[in-house]
Amino acid sequence: MAGSGKFFVGGNWKCNGTKDSITKLVSDLNSAKLESDVDVVVAPPFVYLDLVKASLTDRIEVSAQNSWVGKGGAFTGEISVEQIKDLGCKWVILGHSERRHIIGEDDQFIGKKAAYALSEGLGVIACIGELLEEREAGKTFDVCFQQLKAFADAVPSWDNIVIAYEPVWAIGTGKVATPEQAQEVHVALRDWLKKNVSEEVASKTRIIYGGSVNGGNCVELAKKEDIDGFLVGGASLKGPEFATIVNSVT
Ligand code: PGA
Repeated sequence: MAGSGKFFVGGNWKCNGTKDSITKLVSDLNSAKLESDVDVVVAPPFVYLDLVKASLTDRIEVSAQNSWVGKGGAFTGEISVEQIKDLGCKWVILGHSERRHIIGEDDQFIGKKAAYALSEGLGVIACIGELLEEREAGKTFDVCFQQLKAFADAVPSWDNIVIAYEPVWAIGTGKVATPEQAQEVHVALRDWLKKNVSEEVASKTRIIYGGSVNGGNCVELAKKEDIDGFLVGGASLKGPEFATIVNSVT
């Protein structure tokens, strides 16, 4: 743990679940024993945010998986920051690789979304990460720095941002980055923040890792100095396994 504050574990449920399965997952999370020294957040699909917020223990915060870039209005199919806040959610995930690479959101658009969400008081889980071909071409740092710069250029303050480093080749593939690979990028990101934002932001911002984190690999990853938590996809859909990941830091 290098950033200040608590270890941070987010569960990104993506476009998964039904009323039944989500009710079961919430009940498993409500009865799980979670270390008190960890910030825990789950991000259900929009349509279940209300259900989850109403039934989930207050011990766990609720996040949206995306938000509109400005104030709500005539934007068919979008969900505004104001609506997310209205449901009592405290966080939003922005810049996830599935939104960058499948939906086509670019750095500037994501930066604007982050700035707006922060200005309205939501915390932002800011995702960045390279594709396999970018890693193989030796461009990992360039790609991550460029994505990080787009956030840095847009946001007024880093007080309410958690950076999630998620190599795209590790997301949903079962091919987790080694603790050394993740640590190497996290150190580079912290160094970039130090040089380009401030020493204070570099030392206090939490940098979490995402990409095939599970109950079996989380302890080794959590031991690395600059890994300040996790963003978990598939394994967050299983309450007991997610609890194991939350508790991995101790
Ligand atoms: P995964 O997803 O844990 O299923 O690889 C992580 C993420 O996309 O946040």
